[in-house]
Amino acid sequence: MKSVISDFEYFTPNTVEEALKLLSQYNEEECKIIAGGQSLIILMKQRLLTPKYLIDIKGISDLDYIKLDGKQGLKIGALATHRAIEKSPVIRNGFSVLAEMEQNVSSVETRNWGTIGGNVSHGDPSGDPAPVLIALNAKLKMTSLSGERIIDAEDFTLDYFETALRHDELLTEIQVPTLPPNTGVKFTKFSQIIGDYALASVGVLVTLDEKKEICSDARIALGAVGTAPMRAKKAEEILKGKRISDDLLAEAGQVASEESSPTTDVEASEEYKRNLVRVLVKRVGGEALERAKKA
Ligand SMILES: Cc1cc2nc3c(=O)[nH]c(=O)nc-3n(C[C@H](O)[C@H](O)[C@H](O)COP(=O)(O)OP(=O)(O)OC[C@H]3O[C@@H](n4cnc5c(N)ncnc54)[C@H](O)[C@@H]3O)c2cc1C
Repeated sequence: MKSVISDFEYFTPNTVEEALKLLSQYNEEECKIIAGGQSLIILMKQRLLTPKYLIDIKGISDLDYIKLDGKQGLKIGALATHRAIEKSPVIRNGFSVLAEMEQNVSSVETRNWGTIGGNVSHGDPSGDPAPVLIALNAKLKMTSLSGERIIDAEDFTLDYFETALRHDELLTEIQVPTLPPNTGVKFTKFSQIIGDYALASVGVLVTLDEKKEICSDARIALGAVGTAPMRAKKAEEILKGKRISDDLLAEAGQVASEESSPTTDVEASEEYKRNLVRVLVKRVGGEALERAKKA
């Protein structure tokens, strides 16, 4: 009887270097990295991917950490699971928006296995972590045998399931800078079932001036409403340098909805998703503002 998944050779490196050496031996079509397997195995069962070689990085303990690094901020190893991030006291204290986001990623089972590195590397435009990381101005570290490079989270996903990762690279670390004073961040996804993929998601960061009156910085990130998560930069400009009011947030929501590029699918029409962006940016922006006032 034909098995569901086609045969493959399976490697279990214990270090990043071992994994990278294996990766360099095979080409992109024949070889895949597997971390928690929560996305990859589905594609293999559907035979959308039939790798001959699987490099299982889950045993590389050096990539499984969550730590605060002085002034540099938060560092999350690519193999930290969704559940570890959700439960981490360090994250709950200083970067609670990340823990809040993780609480609604799928089920506890998936969160126990799935890794943040795997989620981001998968390049799914509906993934929850990416818009939060973009709002937080996070950086992603990629490592190959020839060295390391770090890019902004907003530049990582290039298109539908396509990322800036080269075949010879591993995503190794996510770096989140310490939040500036008077800053609030909020993320919300709208899905038909709790824990399901987003129809639209919005992450907003608001920084207020010393008197907590004027918006000195704003970052608005959108998920699931384009071929990649994106920043709504025109909407951000509406808020910057001004006293944020309900009317201003409504204007930012309208502009963000025009900047987004959702498509109609079985779950919702383009028009419905644009409307979600309009409403969510106003709501989430208001919540980020309240957090900034209390920060
Ligand atoms: C039922 C279900 C519901 C889900 N719902 C949600 C949801 O609501 N929101 C959400 O955001 N996600 C959701 N997911 C996706 C889930 O969060 C991801 O599948 C998971 O986080 C991926 O991590 P992983 O470690 O399992 O990656 P894997 O499946 O092992 O890998 C995914 C991809 O990333 C590559 N990869 C993995 N790690 C690395 C690395 N360090 N460097 C380079 N490439 C790497 C792999 O080669 C593969 O292409 C859901 C998944 C399931 C099964």
